[in-house]
Amino acid sequence: MAKRNNVDMAIHIAREARQIHGAMGITNEYPIMRHMMNLESVITYEGTHDVHLLITGMDITGENAFK
Ligand SMILES: Cc1cc2nc3c(=O)[nH]c(=O)nc-3n(C[C@H](O)[C@H](O)[C@H](O)COP(=O)(O)OP(=O)(O)OC[C@H]3O[C@@H](n4cnc5c(N)ncnc54)[C@H](O)[C@@H]3O)c2cc1C
Repeated sequence: MAKRNNVDMAIHIAREARQIHGAMGITNEYPIMRHMMNLESVITYEGTHDVHLLITGMDITGENAFK
């Protein structure tokens, strides 16, 4: 749950930073997109938001919703 929330908060903050910087949030002048791409990688290899929810749901309810 902590990992799921941590990655979600981080990507929301990176998206907010990208919006605040407008076009400068996309260019290489500020490394915001690098953070975004790093976080998209983390979401993929650590397990997506949805899959973490399925795992948490199974732990709480004992029901497997993966299938
Ligand atoms: C930079 C990077 C480094 C990596 N390093 C490693 C490594 O060192 N070792 C290693 O073993 N792997 C590594 N991986 C692989 C990574 O662990 C997998 O990419 C990850 O587990 C997701 O699997 P997948 O790509 O097959 O996507 P899939 O499992 O096919 O998922 C695709 C989509 O389907 C959703 N989904 C998946 N299963 C379900 C389900 N049951 N119900 C509903 N939705 C579902 C996911 O949320 C996602 O949106 C790395 C990946 C990246 C990007």
